[in-house]
Amino acid sequence: MSTEASGWEVVIGLEVHVQLHTRAKVFASAPWGFGAEPNTQVDPVVLGLPGTLPVVNRAALEQSIRFGLAIGAEIPAMCAWDRKNYFYPDNPKNYQLTQKDYPVVVGGTVEVEMPGASRNVMGEHRVVRVHHAHLEEDVGKLSHAAGGSLVDYNRAGVPLLEIVTEPDLRSSVEAEAFLKALIAVITQAGVADCDMEKGQLRCDANVSLRRPGAPLGTRSETKNLNSISGVRAAIEFEVARQTRELEAGRAIVQETRGWNAEAGRGYVLRDKEDAHDYRYFPDPDIPSVTISRDTVERIRKDLPERPFERQRRYMDALGLPYTAASVLVADLALSRWFEAAVSAYPANPVGIANLVANDLLRELAASTEKDPLTGEVSAALSLKDCRIKPEALAALVRLTDEGGISKQQAKEVFAEMFKTGLEPAAIVDAKGLRQNSNSDELEAVVRAVIEDPAVAKSIAEYRAGNAKAINALKGPIMKRTGGKANPAMIDEILRKLLG
Ligand code: ADP
Ligand code: MG
Repeated sequence: MSTEASGWEVVIGLEVHVQLHTRAKVFASAPWGFGAEPNTQVDPVVLGLPGTLPVVNRAALEQSIRFGLAIGAEIPAMCAWDRKNYFYPDNPKNYQLTQKDYPVVVGGTVEVEMPGASRNVMGEHRVVRVHHAHLEEDVGKLSHAAGGSLVDYNRAGVPLLEIVTEPDLRSSVEAEAFLKALIAVITQAGVADCDMEKGQLRCDANVSLRRPGAPLGTRSETKNLNSISGVRAAIEFEVARQTRELEAGRAIVQETRGWNAEAGRGYVLRDKEDAHDYRYFPDPDIPSVTISRDTVERIRKDLPERPFERQRRYMDALGLPYTAASVLVADLALSRWFEAAVSAYPANPVGIANLVANDLLRELAASTEKDPLTGEVSAALSLKDCRIKPEALAALVRLTDEGGISKQQAKEVFAEMFKTGLEPAAIVDAKGLRQNSNSDELEAVVRAVIEDPAVAKSIAEYRAGNAKAINALKGPIMKRTGGKANPAMIDEILRKLLG
């Protein structure tokens, strides 16, 4: 990249805003959710009407703690809220409730797999430090149309966890890898859905350049990025812009910037505001909250394994190849499905993993269903629509391992299971697929084929030391058994009889 060529090191810190998974808003009982009619998810507290008082939503606080524990952070014994004062029509009270001095989550790390993984080689794993995360309220949404501006307060008061990283990221690609890892941790812990298309995760990117080893350079902050590709593009834009500025001998101005996704360009919003511009002060309406160690431990016990911990377990304890393990751990439901199959047949986790990570996911992705009434074609199926049960998949692998059917037949049975949801044994019987593993019967067939003068030449070659010549006999044997002979047994019997 040009920045490396010119000797600048890129430094990035992200502020990630995540809407937490709760029914009610963070300081009010009004519900929230995507797609409702404007201004239907409000109440007097959300609107900041006189005489109302905020009350902390316990669920929002517990989700924040859950996040903290999922990244190994400290949960201080006390957290409190401050008023961040500014006038803007999306902000009904003229202040936003946030946590400036006593955030709910302090420290913690997110494990990130850096780009560079190839087929069976894990990419480098690095740890990105989180400075803190604080629980605040989201603000309303303005839309500007010809003739005036409209405001929708449905989003006002939605619980928002702001996760602030240390400046540990070194490229746009690393920032993308970090966001994906962060989203996996958050969604798998059940803290939030992080659906960026619904605005549930928004990101501010702080970017600066420096000479390697030098102190941090002056940064810009690009606000409100609402897609991963947007984060990447905005960072790349800033790196290019700052490189040009510095190369031309100009200083970087610390500023807050916006991003125009359509144009692929950043623009100046305002000079960087400082904390004192907001006249922060402790909110007098919300008493500080004491977080008991019992609460913390209860939440900790309930947390699932982190994605990369599970990946290591799959590789170390179950012997899975890197690729299959990575595919499985990306989705908690898929991991649970896989593990249910493994506990039904613990002898071959690799065989099960390959079927799940390759065949099952491919079939699900390729499946659409047509509604018989409307003729509408649905999107691809998801795991919960899958007709195959984990135990049935385990039974299929067992049947193959025990020689009941060949690997080739297993593919056919799998396809049928996917379509019908029938048990593998039922399909094998119905299709007459059961592999012949009766050694007396097979031996009789092999003897008959060996007698056939047509294969005499191959037998002579085999006996003369050409091990591959034996394969020429397998076709006629398969033919005589209608393709049902157990290939491993045929091989064994042939070697025994040919000496
Ligand atoms: P503020 O609250 O004023 O925006 P913070 O010091 O809390 O500033 O930093 C906010 C974010 O900016 C953090 O993610 C931090 O890692 C990042 N950051 C701070 N300094 C730099 C820098 N020089 N270059 C890149 N990122 C930075
Ligand atoms: Mg900031």
